[in-house]
Amino acid sequence: MRIIANVYIDGEFAVPHGREALVLVDPATERETTTVILADELDARRAIAAAKAAFLAFSQTSRAERMEWLQALSNAVAAAEADIVEVMVAEYGGTMAMAQGTARRAAASFSLARKVLADYAFEREVGGARMRMLPHGVVGMITPWNANTGFIASKLAMAIASGSTSVIKPSELSAAQTELITRVLHGAGLPPGVFNIVTGRGDTVGAEIARHPDIAKISFTGSTAVGKAIARTAVDSMKRVTLELGGKSPTVFLDDADFAKAMPLAAMAAVMNSGQACIAGTRLLVPRSRLAEASELAVRAFDALVVGPTHDPRVNVGPMVTRKQWERVQGYIERGVAEGATLLAGGPGRPAGLERGWFVRPTVFGEVRNDMAIAREEIFGPVLCIIPYDSDEDALAIANDTPYGLHGYVFGADPARTRKIADGIQAGRVFINGLYDIPEAPFGGVKQSGLGREFGVFGFEEYLEPKAIMGHDTRL
Ligand code: NAD
Repeated sequence: MRIIANVYIDGEFAVPHGREALVLVDPATERETTTVILADELDARRAIAAAKAAFLAFSQTSRAERMEWLQALSNAVAAAEADIVEVMVAEYGGTMAMAQGTARRAAASFSLARKVLADYAFEREVGGARMRMLPHGVVGMITPWNANTGFIASKLAMAIASGSTSVIKPSELSAAQTELITRVLHGAGLPPGVFNIVTGRGDTVGAEIARHPDIAKISFTGSTAVGKAIARTAVDSMKRVTLELGGKSPTVFLDDADFAKAMPLAAMAAVMNSGQACIAGTRLLVPRSRLAEASELAVRAFDALVVGPTHDPRVNVGPMVTRKQWERVQGYIERGVAEGATLLAGGPGRPAGLERGWFVRPTVFGEVRNDMAIAREEIFGPVLCIIPYDSDEDALAIANDTPYGLHGYVFGADPARTRKIADGIQAGRVFINGLYDIPEAPFGGVKQSGLGREFGVFGFEEYLEPKAIMGHDTRL
């Protein structure tokens, strides 16, 4: 069994002070693969101290220097693409397509941040005031397991561009992904202390970051429940917080949509990352008059999904990350049946031929009511709820009748109508008639899907604090 016992503090790899061992299991085989020695609060405090000590000098580096470092980081991550893919597939059962996309986006995060930095006006005049956009200080970053490398890269890229230093606490379930990306980032040769990485549990290292007075800002990606707990703690020292949380996103098929064309995309939106994606389109809203047709197409699309170990590139649904997550998905499938939804495809248990591993059957429920638990709660597995609606207004009302607001998808033939629905969906992002990847566009949620935005110039400004100086001598 492999042992990972690493923290990365002040530019050096060290053995953690923490002693707790966590055994990680390959979700495709249930075999124990790795023992991780977890960091503890003391490790977190050391990392915070290193980031604090590095901040002053780093905040005074020039734009050109930071642009160079961002390019070096982008190059380093791009060169490691094959390794990143391999470890994502092995550690949590990410599909090949997901792993490749994540690895590429991780490299692009740094080059895109470089681009934003190149053009950004840190100093400007507003009225007669001199405005300066300043870095926060030490940023705490807490990330989930489901595309760990991508989240670390996108957050770190912005912090570096802004001139802040960082303490990163990745999910304890992604120790191998973290070990790799840490080595890769280290290879880019940034000054010690600019970023520090400590893998530990949320209620120890994560909680320390949330409460420590020397952390000025937290950027968190994870569940809504944990995001709320972090925000509550963070307010005591008035930390700035960016929260990227869960979702229960609607996919609206308008009655003039080409369902045969739209369904493969809707299915992909529902099962991306094996359904373990915050932006998954898990509620499919279809006009009642075309419910039978939509249901049949959905069943066909879900039955065609290939479930299995993800080193096979044909597989589009891998295992759930842990036994706990598998049990959670099973629980929801059973609950959907008990609530009276019609089971159209999939169902409880493992797919035929897969006796081991945390595999679930891609499942479609028809005739779902939006007040059922399967339509309200984030399942985080390949489970689609088909909900009939009666008019465009009804579709919008159902789409927005959710505590979440991360994403939305609309399919239809009439551009004015699709646009009206896209405008009406309460969400941080909406896709019309396709799946897109525009990393400059802001990403984040409304309602309980989060606070603030990531990516592009909007994301960058979350890492900056405006300061206004009045009465200055304008000739200077
Ligand atoms: P999680 O909330 O359980 O954990 C996320 C991170 O928070 C982990 O690093 C964990 O160790 C840490 N954590 C746990 N308790 C903590 C505490 N008390 N204080 C500080 N940190 C703590 O989420 P997960 O299971 O790793 O990821 C899945 C969730 O993340 C889903 O809800 C999903 O929707 C969400 N997510 C959101 C986005 C987005 O961009 N909006 C992206 C991916 C995942």
